[in-house]
Amino acid sequence: MSDISIRITGHAGRITLQRPQALNAMTYEMCLAIEAALDAWRDDDAVCVVVLDAEGDRAFCSGGDIADLYATGLNGDFSYGQTFWADEYRLNAKLFEYPKPVVSFLQGFTMGGGVGIGCHGSHRVVGDTSQIAMPEVGIGLVPDVGGSLMLALAPERLGEYLGTTASRMNASDAIFAGFADLYIAELKWPTLIEALETTGDADILIGETPAEIGPIQAQMDDINRHFHGATLGDVLTTLQSDDSDFANKTLKAMRRNSPLSMACTFEMLSRLRGPSISMAKALDLEYRFTARAMEHGDFIEGIRAAIIDKDRTPKWQFADGNVPPMAVSKMLMPLGDLALKLKGNGMNIGFIGLGNMGAPMAANLAAAGHNVSGFDPAGTTADGVTVAANAVEAATGADVVITMLPNGSILRSVAAEVIAAMQAGATLLDCSTVDVESARAVATDAAAAGLLAVDAPVSGGIGGAAGGTLTFMAGGSDAGFAKVQPLFEIMGQKAVHCGESGAGQAAKICNNMILGATMIATCEAFSLADKLGLDRQKMFDVVSTSSGYSWSMNAYCPAPGVGPTSPADNDYTPGFAAELMLKDLGLSQQAAEAANADTPMGALALALYKQFVEDEGGLGKDFSAMLPRFEARDRG
Ligand code: NAD
Repeated sequence: MSDISIRITGHAGRITLQRPQALNAMTYEMCLAIEAALDAWRDDDAVCVVVLDAEGDRAFCSGGDIADLYATGLNGDFSYGQTFWADEYRLNAKLFEYPKPVVSFLQGFTMGGGVGIGCHGSHRVVGDTSQIAMPEVGIGLVPDVGGSLMLALAPERLGEYLGTTASRMNASDAIFAGFADLYIAELKWPTLIEALETTGDADILIGETPAEIGPIQAQMDDINRHFHGATLGDVLTTLQSDDSDFANKTLKAMRRNSPLSMACTFEMLSRLRGPSISMAKALDLEYRFTARAMEHGDFIEGIRAAIIDKDRTPKWQFADGNVPPMAVSKMLMPLGDLALKLKGNGMNIGFIGLGNMGAPMAANLAAAGHNVSGFDPAGTTADGVTVAANAVEAATGADVVITMLPNGSILRSVAAEVIAAMQAGATLLDCSTVDVESARAVATDAAAAGLLAVDAPVSGGIGGAAGGTLTFMAGGSDAGFAKVQPLFEIMGQKAVHCGESGAGQAAKICNNMILGATMIATCEAFSLADKLGLDRQKMFDVVSTSSGYSWSMNAYCPAPGVGPTSPADNDYTPGFAAELMLKDLGLSQQAAEAANADTPMGALALALYKQFVEDEGGLGKDFSAMLPRFEARDRG
């Protein structure tokens, strides 16, 4: 008997898992067979509904079959696992977006990989034996197969709880958490499947009300109280300081799991929540972890302890639960060329301006599977990006043209060239920081040529551009924003639609007026601290966790050797050039004058950066080089 039966019965595409002896654990071959069936049935009018079920009483599907992954990983071959996960995630995405109803019947265990095939369809049916869980942290992985999306969407802090304790949900809890839709008594399932085959109509399924609310839902107060922290450390601290039954049981469950995996789970859910949440983003983040899990995570050790030696005493990294933020960042950094590529999502993108910001942004788009053609007159290039001879060549045939340029007048001249070359219906996305008038003028010209236009300047600096964690502030129509949102999800972690054309630039210049002033304040405070004999590291330790903290201090510290790596550690090579900050402060003063707004701090910041760039050697230096400028001066 084969492990899976795929057939068309009546109006239903039928997929039945047939490995009950292995709790229907999914092999690589089963995964590929399901994907092939979904591809074949997508445009087949004979199939009106897809029905997924499994043989045996004990499990719909207990997870992915991980024995092969272990064997290859142990031998130092990480590519088998990477291919398995990438193909599995592609299947998960297809199920999630499938244009026809997908009905799944989830008896017994539905865990991990089982959730990936059973819980992304349109009608997820559970019964009295159903037990659904995301237990990956117990084997050194993170909730994957799209499960991180479901956890991020679960009510309040339930996702953090389920993802780090691996708790099992009964039917009622699964519906509450968003992993299932319909409770129907299991003895009715065979008749319902026949009816689905006969009618092809998923609307015949009517859910019943489970007998009582689930035990996990009943604990939501405790869950929210203990899991509201941002990191694993926060949650462990509150649990350890509580002697309740809930806290003790939860701690016991979490102690079985990999601390690195749990810490990454918290970070993933926090990155996913927000306006740009999507299945593609969830799978991309999950894959960043799983692709590294064998080499750098706890996966091999987790499998050894769970299913090879069965000693159930894994030797986790960071066993005391103290996981440094850097370890989490390393597991979740973009993968570059190795990044997950979901078939069929490749847009043609022209990218113009491959400077400090543009080059890594373009590389991230290419790594995510888009076809990127890039141009920069300075001859700079970016990984995975095809070099175009000029801006027109990069824009020709593109679905989206992205510009990342120094200022509004360069934007206007580049836009004039490329708008004429772009195909009707395409979108011009400008991510540079420019004046509101230039943004609006370019949008008007684009609209006149039948194009969509979005102004979406960014915040987050070169680190955010490289790490795919920028914040975009966008102006333009809803249609334009929707078109480019999938690209924001790759290049950033947050995109705010601020209003009509120009609104993104308005948000950006206000933000950077604050940034200019806080960087100056941070630099002058360091200089004062020096003169008071205060050690810079001590100053950082205090201020970064006190009311004087800011992005300038905490993420981009202007003092060399203090705080996270920043341009100060590289002799103030930009980074974000002082002349670009001068430009932005000029834009905010220009806007303040036009709008009759009183902005004395912004005006002073502009005057100081002007003096620095024009008379004090600041040109070509990072904008944080204000610190050596203050160092060299007396009160005067
Ligand atoms: P950059 O100077 O490194 O890059 C700009 C690129 O544009 C250069 O490579 C230049 O050769 C290219 N260019 C100039 N004229 C061109 C033309 N006619 N056609 C095509 N390309 C042309 O600057 P950056 O730091 O990458 O900043 C780009 C934009 O992003 C700016 O508007 C800046 O204000 C904004 N920004 C920068 C940061 C940062 O930290 N660097 C942060 C947020 C926003």
